[in-house]
Amino acid sequence: MKFVRLALAATALTACLASAPAFAQDKGFVGIAMPTQSSARWISDGNSMVEQFKEAGYETDLQYAEDDIPNQLAQIENMITKGVNVLVIAAIDGTTLSNALANADAAGIEVIAYDRLIRDSEHVDYYATFDNFKVGVQQAETLVAGLKERFPDVKPWNVELFGGSPDDNNAFFFYDGGMSVLQPMIDSGDIVIKSGQTGMQTVGTLRWDGSVAQARMDNLLSANYTDDQVHGVLSPYDGLSIGIISSLKGVGYGTGDMEMPIVSGQDAEVPSVKAILRGDQYSTIFKDTRELARVTVGMVEAVLNEGEPEINDTETYDNGVKVVPSYLLEPVPVTEANWREVLVDSGYYTADEIEN
Ligand code: BGC
Repeated sequence: MKFVRLALAATALTACLASAPAFAQDKGFVGIAMPTQSSARWISDGNSMVEQFKEAGYETDLQYAEDDIPNQLAQIENMITKGVNVLVIAAIDGTTLSNALANADAAGIEVIAYDRLIRDSEHVDYYATFDNFKVGVQQAETLVAGLKERFPDVKPWNVELFGGSPDDNNAFFFYDGGMSVLQPMIDSGDIVIKSGQTGMQTVGTLRWDGSVAQARMDNLLSANYTDDQVHGVLSPYDGLSIGIISSLKGVGYGTGDMEMPIVSGQDAEVPSVKAILRGDQYSTIFKDTRELARVTVGMVEAVLNEGEPEINDTETYDNGVKVVPSYLLEPVPVTEANWREVLVDSGYYTADEIEN
């Protein structure tokens, strides 16, 4: 009897599963290509999108490429073959997708650049992102606020600069935003870059790799800070900050009279918010991935229904071929002073995730 009931339930379930995609296909099929699962933010992005697309009645195919460019290209080609209606892509290398997008266009597939601009292609319909220049401004502003707070009597402050991956368009916006705050202070002599290393060509960190940042920080310290102290490090991403902080701790910062330098970050990832509470990292930038997913779902709804997506920027993001109409969300700086209000009260994390 039990067996019969189970068998009936299984048949009903199979019928249900078989009919589900047919229903979802009515609304549309969305291919979501994300760069890597090595950073929690992209996992949140993927999960939020799948959840919100499902709620809106879409079928999704979510793929992560683990920062391997050929892998991401193969995943996108595969989505095209599977017959997606829209591609939502956070590119690993924003310059390598031109052929894939030409194929997507030939198949009548709409393309939305997600968080990172896709360059050198006319087949990018819309761009959903945060105000990336402002992210850089906020990183530098929190760095300066931290320098004033922790090293009020020091002049000039010794600062070193790190950039993101040079194949990610965002990295230049973060760097330029940061330098819009720091360059005037370098010019006035309030800040000194002892290594002399500036400019994305020199300070960029390929693939946003924390171990590359750690190795570079080791070199900066041994070459420039054997009898002087570094007071601040502009870091554009929490994963790089972790490497930078390990390097600093490795030579004794944070013990005795070697105060921890002020280190910035981005993404409000759990280990880095914990590092802020320990005083190892000073700040990060919160970008609410639930909101980015919401904007993206809205764009997809519009493009598939011949509507006009919500756009708030038609000037900033020139991809080399066209200015891509964009929606920019607001980033929020986070320090020890406001982490609870920004990250817990908003429901993004539980207090337990951060405090335990
Ligand atoms: C994103 C950042 C992220 C970085 C590394 C950038 O394109 O905008 O949020 O920290 O990639 O994953």
